[in-house]
Amino acid sequence: MESLEELKGRIEALRSLFSDVKLMTDDETPAETASSFSSTMSDEVKDSNPYSRLMALKRMGIVQNYEKIRDYTVAIVGVGGVGSVTAEMLTRCGIGKLLLFDYDKVELANMNRMFYMPQQAGTYKVEAAAKTLNFINPTVDIKSFNMNITTVENYETFQKELLHGSLTGGRVDLVLSCVDNYEGRMTINQACNELGLPWFESGVSENAVSGHIQFINPGETACFACAPPLIVASSVDEKTLKKDGVCAASLPTTMAIVAGFLVQNVLKKLLNFGEVSHYLGYNAMKDHFPRMKLLPNTSCSDTNCIKQQEEYKEKVANQVVDESLKVSEKESAVVHEDNIYGIELVHDGAASKDDDYSAGDGVKYSLPQTSSNVEGPVVSDTNQSVDDLRNVMNNLNNL
Ligand SMILES: [Zn+2]
Repeated sequence: MESLEELKGRIEALRSLFSDVKLMTDDETPAETASSFSSTMSDEVKDSNPYSRLMALKRMGIVQNYEKIRDYTVAIVGVGGVGSVTAEMLTRCGIGKLLLFDYDKVELANMNRMFYMPQQAGTYKVEAAAKTLNFINPTVDIKSFNMNITTVENYETFQKELLHGSLTGGRVDLVLSCVDNYEGRMTINQACNELGLPWFESGVSENAVSGHIQFINPGETACFACAPPLIVASSVDEKTLKKDGVCAASLPTTMAIVAGFLVQNVLKKLLNFGEVSHYLGYNAMKDHFPRMKLLPNTSCSDTNCIKQQEEYKEKVANQVVDESLKVSEKESAVVHEDNIYGIELVHDGAASKDDDYSAGDGVKYSLPQTSSNVEGPVVSDTNQSVDDLRNVMNNLNNL
């Protein structure tokens, strides 16, 4: 039998072990961390200012009003491999408010990805995420919803939150889809078409080596129903894949790259700098990044999309398009207030073109099906024979 002293020693050892665990899981932010953050962003250049590097974007002439990020609310649907990293990046950037939607639990099988820790296995993703994010930046307002948005009653709550969930009780500024299934994407598409809310779609292929992001501004750009991805067209049922025990592959690299592209474009959209990509693909096998513009389908199956298209046309005709919502067509000039390093921007006039490479290779699983909506060279059907065409080509060459 152990002596009293030995038992006391063991209690002490257990106590210290539990205090370590508590530090890692407690939702209470350490007081010294909380006091370093203030709700207003300081541009003071000092090591103890958590925003000094972000506010330096103003001094470098990239962003005019970085502190505006404190006013924005972003809804993230799905906090898995892409969504959790997206939420962490936005939290580190000092976003005003985040709404997190998910109903899954953290599993040990998720540990090949970023963000979640093994000790969080078995807990709900939105709850685990909210705790960690609160640790990282306690001034970000984080509201989590442990629910599946595709059910009828939850859809109502989802829509209500999108309409009234912002910091000021109004509409959220952007919705980000980080779900891994078609049903979830179509639900977000339906809600955003109904409400006229801009959103970003994102995805990673099941073989883990390609991904994409897509910006959707109802009425102006193709919605998710206008141009469904190839995976849907090829009738591959994602649920069947899971049920058969043939799980999808995933890499932390591809997930983090897609999350990085997503947040980069969210920042550009919200803070009004650079160009927002309509559609940006990623092929890891060749490190290829196809980028294209997708126009709405005038015979889209979603009636609200058609309605939004008509309203957008009217707005353009009356020249009342909200410039902050319009996808920037022109390149923004980057002006440095003081160029102490003497760095010059050189425009790459003759960018190299991968002639032997088609965009399809990079976005096999995610390229929208309706290619006629993709802006670019259009080849029309012809009844002419090859010889006729060859003659035309020769005539043109002789001009
Ligand atoms: Zn549509």
